Amino acid sequence: MENNKNLRNWLNKMELAHPLVIAGPCSAETEEQVLKIAHQLKETDTTVLRAGIWKPRTRPGNFEGVGALGLKWLQKAKQETGLMTATEVANANHVDLALKHDVDILWVGARTTVSPFIVQEIADALKGTEKIVLIKNPVNPDLALWLGAVERFYESDVKNLGVIHRGFSTYEKTRYRNNPEWQIPIDLQNKFPDLPLILDPSHIAGRRDIIFDLCQTALDLNYDGLMVETHFDPDNAWSDAAQQITPASLKQMTIDLRIRKQEGDAVEFKNKLNTLRTKIDVLDHQLIESLGKRMKIADDIGMLKKKNNVAILQTKRWNEILGKMILEGEENQLSEEFILRIFKAIHQESINHQKKVIND
Ligand code: PEP
Ligand code: MN
Repeated sequence: MENNKNLRNWLNKMELAHPLVIAGPCSAETEEQVLKIAHQLKETDTTVLRAGIWKPRTRPGNFEGVGALGLKWLQKAKQETGLMTATEVANANHVDLALKHDVDILWVGARTTVSPFIVQEIADALKGTEKIVLIKNPVNPDLALWLGAVERFYESDVKNLGVIHRGFSTYEKTRYRNNPEWQIPIDLQNKFPDLPLILDPSHIAGRRDIIFDLCQTALDLNYDGLMVETHFDPDNAWSDAAQQITPASLKQMTIDLRIRKQEGDAVEFKNKLNTLRTKIDVLDHQLIESLGKRMKIADDIGMLKKKNNVAILQTKRWNEILGKMILEGEENQLSEEFILRIFKAIHQESINHQKKVIND
């Protein structure tokens, strides 16, 4: 996929004064529910109504969507409100039905992006389409797999493309339902600055209270839009109840978010500075997380040494680490002096951790 300026034509054509907002329920539940939410969203910055019609569930037995019937509700919502519509497609049959019902934006879900076979099937079904196709990141943190999906659509002559960042699943429990791993979309943005990038804070968060902060980080990183799960009665939604917000909260959120306009030299300078600072914040966060993980391993080593009656300080091992890190540092334009200072500090903290374990 070449770095083609046309990639963001569809977004430019919308001529929005703010980032694109896609909102709506996780799942279309009833006709009344879809219409009621659509009318409430009409009073917000929302341009596109989203609703899942076919729901890919990790475990069977949960609500799996109303199926094709719901496409008629989306059509009606569009007629009544003028909102564009969007739904997830997971096979060629879904594509066929969505196209027949005039859905404006089709998205490929995280559980689909992981499978090049299904991605190819959908790309073939959409060959040459003018529709907008948004590709969610795969469930696993793999940038190449994500880009590969984009390329399959691009090669199928689907020009109106974009991506949705919805986080990545982890085995460890974290504060997120899906870890944001900001570095992955940042890498993607660096490689394809013209590919519209949209944040789905709902599936990253899995809960309402951190959606705002996720959106703010995305805007600071120059994302092009937000896709937010929205329901008039979130707690009683048939799927993803904990993470949905009301249209009224969405409206308040878009008022409170710092949205940066690209105008004037001073503003542009501030915007750029803010974006770079947010990137630094992402990396600093990773540094602290890595150091925390490293110290937990040091604790385990401490336990092992205690059991086997081995001394904490192993000079040979420590010199090996230093030598390796100085070489790696050189490859990354980091001075020997800096590496020495950092690793002495890390080593000291490690020893403190081990001492604590041994003396406890
Ligand atoms: C959704 O958008 O409702 C959905 C199922 O998302 P994901 O594919 O990101 O899990
Ligand atoms: Mn959902």
